[in-house]
Amino acid sequence: MLVSRMMHPVCTLGPGERFAIWVSGCKRRCKKCANPELQAFDPKNEIPIDVLIQVVSDFCISKGVTGITISGGEPFEQPEELEKLVYGLPEQVHDILVFSGYTIEQLHEKKNPAIEKVLARISVLVDGEYKDELNQGHPLKGSQNQRIWFLQDEVKEAYEQFIRSHEATVQQFATSDDVFAIGIHRRNFDEDLARLMKKKGLSV
Ligand code: SF4
Repeated sequence: MLVSRMMHPVCTLGPGERFAIWVSGCKRRCKKCANPELQAFDPKNEIPIDVLIQVVSDFCISKGVTGITISGGEPFEQPEELEKLVYGLPEQVHDILVFSGYTIEQLHEKKNPAIEKVLARISVLVDGEYKDELNQGHPLKGSQNQRIWFLQDEVKEAYEQFIRSHEATVQQFATSDDVFAIGIHRRNFDEDLARLMKKKGLSV
C-alpha cells in the first residue's frame, strides 16, 4: 500500500489519542488541497500490506490504541489494500475513521466489492470534496459541504462529544527534518503560516 506517513498520538482527527495513517495518491484535485504533497502515487512509499498490518497492529496493541484515522491522499484509490488493512487490524481497534474526497454515493457508484467491505467495517466516514470557500473551522470537516457518516452507532456519542468540545485545530509533530501540522486546517492556514514565518525570517 502507498503510505506517506503514520503518527501517534493524534488528538485532532477524532476522539482520543489515535494512530493516524496518511496514504499517498489522489486523483482528485481539490482547489487549496491541504495535502498536495500526498497527491502523487509515489512508488517509493510502497509498504507490503502484510508488513503494514503487522506494524500498525503491534503498535496499537502495545500502546492500547483503540482508534485509527486514515486520510491522505485518497484512501479509496487503493480499495483492495484498504480493505485488507481495516480487516487486518486487531479487534481492540473498534473505531476507524476514514476521510475521503469522494461522497458516499460516488463510492457506492464504483460498485467495487472492496469499497463496500470497507464501508461495512469502518466506524465513521467523512466524505466529499474539500471546498475552501466553505471552510468554517469545523473540528472534523474541512468544509461544510462534507458530511460525517456514523457507520457504527457505538462511536457516535464520543464523536459528538469531540465535535462539541473542540474547534478546528492543528497539532505539531516534529521529525528530524520536518514539521507537520496535523488536523483540520482553518482557511488560509498556509498563507498565515508563511506570513508568520517570513516575519521571523524563516521560509517554508
Ligand atoms: S481529496 Fe483530499 S488529497 Fe485529494 S485533492 Fe482533495 S483535499 Fe487533496
